[in-house]
Amino acid sequence: MPPPRAIIFDLGNVLVFHDNTLLFHRLGQRAGLTAPEVSQRLTGAGWTAANRGQLDAEGIRKDVCGALGVDLPMEEFAPLWSSHFTVHEAVLPRVEGLVGRVKLVLLSNTNPLHVAYVRPRLPVLERFDAVLMSCEVGHVKPEPAFYQLALERVGCAPHEAAFFDDLPEFVEAANVLGIRGHVFTDAPAFDAQLKALGL
Ligand SMILES: [Mg+2]
Repeated sequence: MPPPRAIIFDLGNVLVFHDNTLLFHRLGQRAGLTAPEVSQRLTGAGWTAANRGQLDAEGIRKDVCGALGVDLPMEEFAPLWSSHFTVHEAVLPRVEGLVGRVKLVLLSNTNPLHVAYVRPRLPVLERFDAVLMSCEVGHVKPEPAFYQLALERVGCAPHEAAFFDDLPEFVEAANVLGIRGHVFTDAPAFDAQLKALGL
């Protein structure tokens, strides 16, 4: 099989790390809750609504603060809400090395506050052929429509695209559509996966 014409990347735990335990711990410190309590309170409808773009920044602040029983002003909430990200420095040169060789697509389940935080910290995204944030297009993984939109944006058939995500569930959803899905683990494994793809 020839090398893929496009590579579709997940964002979280691929191009940036997000330490949710740290986030829940920090939110808990402000709310007088333990990290597991924060996790439990934030699991549910609000996340999905935020990822679908149904909540703007203020909506997210109200939703999260309401669930935790605190009222943090936006100037405190926004940096706290994104305080758990670290750029995955090791993978960036590898992604930059693909620019011009294959079409590059980002496919992320995320919310407007995280987009605002992450985009300026990942200038390589400006060189991507398509950047699809769930909250900007109204679809989330693992919905087929989200993957199909990625393929449409770069004019590829499913078998012409490879997909990298740290979550096996989302990789499986890509495989079902005929996209060549791979579970992303770390930079050395990514090298081997690219080599196996002929890149
Ligand atoms: Mg991820």
